[in-house]
Amino acid sequence: MLAKLGGQGGTAIATPAELRPLADLLRTAQPCVVLTGAGMSTASGIPDFRGPGGLWRSARLARDLSLRTLSSNPRRFYRRALPLFAAMHRAQPNAGHLALARLEQAGLLQAVITQNIDGLHQRAGSSRVLELHGHLRTASCTGCLRRVPFPDLVEKVARGELPPLCKHCTFPLRPDVVLFGDLLGLGFEDTRQLVKACGLLLVVGSSLEVTPAAYLPMLTRRLAIINRTPTPLDSRAQLVVRGEAAAALEALAREVVA
Ligand code: NAD
Repeated sequence: MLAKLGGQGGTAIATPAELRPLADLLRTAQPCVVLTGAGMSTASGIPDFRGPGGLWRSARLARDLSLRTLSSNPRRFYRRALPLFAAMHRAQPNAGHLALARLEQAGLLQAVITQNIDGLHQRAGSSRVLELHGHLRTASCTGCLRRVPFPDLVEKVARGELPPLCKHCTFPLRPDVVLFGDLLGLGFEDTRQLVKACGLLLVVGSSLEVTPAAYLPMLTRRLAIINRTPTPLDSRAQLVVRGEAAAALEALAREVVA
């Protein structure tokens, strides 16, 4: 049965009572796994891609952030990408990230699967985080595959070293994030198994338009979605909370964690 909570226009859900049906589902359908998308971090000041005003509205930006541009025109790639990456580094976890960490500590959340590359779940205290699209902690050499701290790459780009090169084999370094045109990283099979075995998949702040993450809800017995705007998989969900991720997760954690 599909239940919709909250208003269509993105009404903030603030009271624990409004989240009670989701709280009941969370308690009874363990183990719960959460899948987060870019909407999880908009309250931390990082724009999403497909929401209103999202970065994806610019087709040029999408092209510039691709593997093809990284190879053919690294100057353009880094001119576009570095301000975004820097904004992600500056951002702080919001109440939603903190609420998910509390749910994990309370034994009510098995793992967070995220499409985000901003690292905010770990900084909020979540310990089991599967990052489907990589992260900004390191960069890798495309030749010898050695890893370097991400700031080393940023420093090289800032010095005008384009592309930034590995000091061992002089092949280009690249960020350890999945770019448009990349194949998805290893480890997706683990993610699929985790979702198949869970009692509830709670999707937060994802348009569910990016594959293969968008396939994950097909693998689960019970699906709940928290999102500001409708998603193509709302009709498959037991519960849809139409509202703000941070407010909804905070209220949910208050309801289920003593
Ligand atoms: P998306 O941009 O396609 O969709 C975000 C969804 O979240 C939209 O449906 C939007 O309406 C909703 N939303 C936005 N703010 C919300 C809020 N405060 N509360 C509730 N819902 C909210 O995001 P996606 O599905 O994750 O796909 C985008 C891809 O881009 C991902 O693969 C990700 O790797 C990358 N990305 C990452 C970041 C990040 O790391 N923070 C930011 C932008 C894009």
